[in-house]
Amino acid sequence: MDVMKKVPVREQDPKVRATNFDEVCLGYNAQEAQAEASRCLKCKNARCVSGCPVAIDIPGFIAKVQEGALEEAADIIALSSALPAVCGRVCPQESQCEGKCVRGIKGEPISIGKLERFVADWSREHGFVPKKPENTNGKKVAVVGSGPAGLTCAGDLAKLGYEVTIFEALHEPGGVLMYGIPEFRLPKDTVVKAEIENVKKLGVKIECNVVIGKSVTIDQLMSEEGFSAVFIGSGAGLPKFMGIPGENANGVFSANEFLTRNNLMKAFRDDYETPIVHGKKVAVVGGGNVAMDAARTALRLGGETHIIYRRSEAELPARVEEVHHAKEEGIIFNLLTNPKEILVDEKGWVKGIVCVKMELGEPDASGRRRPVEIPGSEFTIDVDTVIMSLGTSPNPLISSTTEGLEVNKWKCIVADESNGKTTKEGVYAGGDAVTGAATVILAMEAGRAGARGIHEYLSNK
Ligand SMILES: Cc1cc2nc3c(=O)[nH]c(=O)nc-3n(C[C@H](O)[C@H](O)[C@H](O)COP(=O)(O)OP(=O)(O)OC[C@H]3O[C@@H](n4cnc5c(N)ncnc54)[C@H](O)[C@@H]3O)c2cc1C
Ligand code: SF4
Repeated sequence: MDVMKKVPVREQDPKVRATNFDEVCLGYNAQEAQAEASRCLKCKNARCVSGCPVAIDIPGFIAKVQEGALEEAADIIALSSALPAVCGRVCPQESQCEGKCVRGIKGEPISIGKLERFVADWSREHGFVPKKPENTNGKKVAVVGSGPAGLTCAGDLAKLGYEVTIFEALHEPGGVLMYGIPEFRLPKDTVVKAEIENVKKLGVKIECNVVIGKSVTIDQLMSEEGFSAVFIGSGAGLPKFMGIPGENANGVFSANEFLTRNNLMKAFRDDYETPIVHGKKVAVVGGGNVAMDAARTALRLGGETHIIYRRSEAELPARVEEVHHAKEEGIIFNLLTNPKEILVDEKGWVKGIVCVKMELGEPDASGRRRPVEIPGSEFTIDVDTVIMSLGTSPNPLISSTTEGLEVNKWKCIVADESNGKTTKEGVYAGGDAVTGAATVILAMEAGRAGARGIHEYLSNK
């Protein structure tokens, strides 16, 4: 074994996986996990921990994996993370823990994410469940939204003895974990639902189909329903569009709608009554992780799929691994290309997308080189489906129905990063609703900070 190199992880063959929704990465088995764990230097000054937003004791749990003491490894991770099987799969480890790993200076970093996933899967398969606290303190806290921020906040508060109810607008809990990230990266029944069940086992109640701001307001929760504090973890689910001609045609989707209809409403399965039109030629506009997820989903539904992105490959905001997987599966990348118009047929359906070629000019405010149109370079790609993946912002429903809750110019809730405190007494917030679209682990950390803030507030009240 070459200690400078990661133990390779098994994956489904690209040609096979491009036609199914099963998980791409198959993870480590026990032998592979132990071999990978043995590469860890168990550094005294473990830089990997400083790269983890929730500061998991990484050398501690890896040492237990090496010894084969997997229940102890799971206990160590559980001290810092309520959703380890999720994080092991979707965290951007290359820019966090693994990006700081000392092994990575001269060789390849330790596969921390794959080891976390291995431990989490092992503990689930062996029926390892968190213990419910014996007594509650009788204080009720409401959590709005059941994504990683809400679930983490609820779980932490339940461990402290609070009676916590999560109110979720959709018919299934989990937020983006359920409706956004596709099955082939994050299995729903085996992984996401199992981790949500673990949060419920701590005593947390989840009420679905409740839209806060419509079914009931935050003020009513506090004045009429007996909740002493509220945590808002309502995410950033409002899609952006380009404002180009033809964007209202049939066959144009936001990535959010397209992914929700596939993940949550199972449009890809024939036995569900909520189908989606299967595009034969699909253009996905954008270059982030969401665009890669939408493109890889469209490909699996049987369409030739193009990514259209206005900068070059070096500027693609998606994770390198996602771009690599998308290319392996056959996604066509139209880089330095920008849409100008969507062409519509006489029945109102998309029939093509007019694009223009771009070149990179001087750096803009973001520090990246500004894409500039090349005059006269317009061309048309024949497509019947266009998926817009240009980012999202928080839905203003809650802020517009909650007096005294300040938002910034992007409609993000203004909250103290250290404890989630908002401008309204007793109301805390965190995750994408505060930061705008970010990551699972940052949302979890914000949920944890919100739970600390609420505990401090209610302990002193
Ligand atoms: C397609 C896609 C792929 C992604 N891939 C990754 C990845 O690989 N790695 C990564 O780290 N991050 C990824 N992200 C980002 C990550 O998923 C989010 O940053 C994270 O889920 C934010 O968590 P949250 O709890 O703040 O919000 P969400 O997960 O958005 O959860 C918010 C919940 O609140 C509910 N809600 C909203 N309004 C109301 C209301 N008025 N009343 C009641 N409930 C309400 C919503 O229905 C939702 O369930 C991805 C995002 C998308 C869209
Ligand atoms: S920095 Fe890398 S080698 Fe050191 S303890 Fe962390 S994972 Fe192990």
